[in-house]
Amino acid sequence: MGVIARFRDRLPVGPETPELTLGEGDTPLIASKRIGERLGLDLHFKFEGMNPTGSFKDRGMVVAVAKAMEAGADGIICASTGNTASSAAAYAACAGLRALVLYPAGAVAPAKVAQTRAVGAELRAIQGSFDEAMRNCVTIAEEGKYVLVNSLNPNRIEGQKTAVFEIVEQLGGRAPDILALPYGGGGNTVAYAKGFQEEGIQPRMISAHAVERGTTMASAIRIAEPVHIHEVEALVAEGRVEPVAVADEDITRMWLELAKLEGIFCEPSSAAGLAAIAQLDLQPGATVVCVLTGHGLKDTAAVELHTPEAVPVEPTKESILSGVSV
Ligand SMILES: *Cc1c(COP(=O)(O)O)cnc(C)c1O
Repeated sequence: MGVIARFRDRLPVGPETPELTLGEGDTPLIASKRIGERLGLDLHFKFEGMNPTGSFKDRGMVVAVAKAMEAGADGIICASTGNTASSAAAYAACAGLRALVLYPAGAVAPAKVAQTRAVGAELRAIQGSFDEAMRNCVTIAEEGKYVLVNSLNPNRIEGQKTAVFEIVEQLGGRAPDILALPYGGGGNTVAYAKGFQEEGIQPRMISAHAVERGTTMASAIRIAEPVHIHEVEALVAEGRVEPVAVADEDITRMWLELAKLEGIFCEPSSAAGLAAIAQLDLQPGATVVCVLTGHGLKDTAAVELHTPEAVPVEPTKESILSGVSV
């Protein structure tokens, strides 16, 4: 059905807003099979990697692009560590708009670049950091030709907050005690805080960022200067958000456990929230939701580093079964 049709009365859309959709939202809330038991928690995973382009970015992007269409824009522009670009490009193609995408050269997972190219966006690989790409994007958008669809666009935050409404519904109308998610630029943190406020609930909300923000292996949260830092700091001061620093080795370990112990293949950055949960001392039995922001097929480099390769064998039963552990 899509986020706009489903949550129309809770979004800044009107009768003139096109009902754009690629079928985003309505992602599964999966009950943990093993990790929750080990941690002594009632643990659930909101798998946002199941969105049409494979990340939560689709929830906000559909609203931002529909509003750009409504405003009569010719094109959209964004800076991206990958998933914003994949999402912006797909929704631009769906809407019949042009998309200009700026990303830090060499720092984006190849599958995300492929997704963006495939749907016809114009890509510019900036010889610089994400933060430099972002600054240029804002300057170009100010000239008025392109609508900025980074999370500085408030329609992105509005669309992203809808994940909260789904989580409460999926828990049978209950609020989770704790919710954890990765913190890159902070747009999603701001969106979830807004969603909780609108639902009139305040779970303990944990925003997990990399210890080494500028160099972490989790490329989707490799952002040295979060664009939403002031809003996040205000939420922290109000006691509504708790930032937690997580080390790359802990992100990697929990990412592998999600795959091997739960069968959920997300991208490494998505495991940051769970890494934070695993290092905190929490009330036993607490209902915890970890938001898994993107799909594992987005960033397969880590798989090659951390899992065994296929074993070459002869086409005989003996050769195939030699060394097999089960
Ligand atoms: C964008 C993204 C993040 C970071 O979200 P922010 O809103 O920038 O904090 C985390 N994980 C994935 C997979 C992403 O695409």
